Amino acid sequence: MWRASILTLYPDMFPGPLGTSLSGDALARGTWSLETHNIREHGLGRHRAVDDTPAGGGPGMVIRADVLASALDGALPAVDERPRLLMSPRGRPLTQARVRALAAGPGVAIVCGRFEGVDERVIEGRGLEEVSIGDYVLSGGEIASMVLLDACVRLLPGVMGKEASGSEESFEGGLLEYPHYTRPREWEGRAIPETLLSGDHARIARWRADEARRLTAERRPDLLKGD
Ligand code: SAM
Repeated sequence: MWRASILTLYPDMFPGPLGTSLSGDALARGTWSLETHNIREHGLGRHRAVDDTPAGGGPGMVIRADVLASALDGALPAVDERPRLLMSPRGRPLTQARVRALAAGPGVAIVCGRFEGVDERVIEGRGLEEVSIGDYVLSGGEIASMVLLDACVRLLPGVMGKEASGSEESFEGGLLEYPHYTRPREWEGRAIPETLLSGDHARIARWRADEARRLTAERRPDLLKGD
């Protein structure tokens, strides 16, 4: 079973959207497991404080290293093969290749940040790897962690149907995916490209490859450069 452990200040957000459709069915079947740990339980004092003001001044609050370390030490087994990730806009951007690698492993442990982020010392001291889901700032790591989990879980064996192995999807061959069409044959004066109705599989494969390259060049030239 692929195991996900989530450290968060908002455990009620889980499983959220991951509890429905493909990921929800897979969760119910036991293909993967999800456990949440509330960082607040390791907070200090009567108010269970988890954050404090940034050293050096500035706006916002920072999650304390001692609090998060205690939450991590309490939640995760001492011997654990799973990567320890910290959702963070400063992290290395998540890619489909990384998602595939994570899905092929034993699972993930994920820390969801809040406020201005977490004290740098706990990132170093507990070997957290920062992962970003894109160049924009969310209010917390919870939704970011769900994005990562959704991308991984759909690749676990038996989660997608055989017909949708994911092998032809966007990014898999370094390109965006070709366009799709289905019935009716004509809709509002727009016809399905004739090639797709030809029954000639080699021609169809060529058309799709050309379209994938055309779309990638148009929308994501960075992918063609191998950036
Ligand atoms: N002060 C931080 C910065 O400028 O890098 C942003 C903190 S953000 C308001 C709060 C939390 O949301 C972060 O600690 C992280 O866990 C999460 N988060 C925000 N944007 C994210 C992104 N693009 N990818 C992954 N996690 C993100």
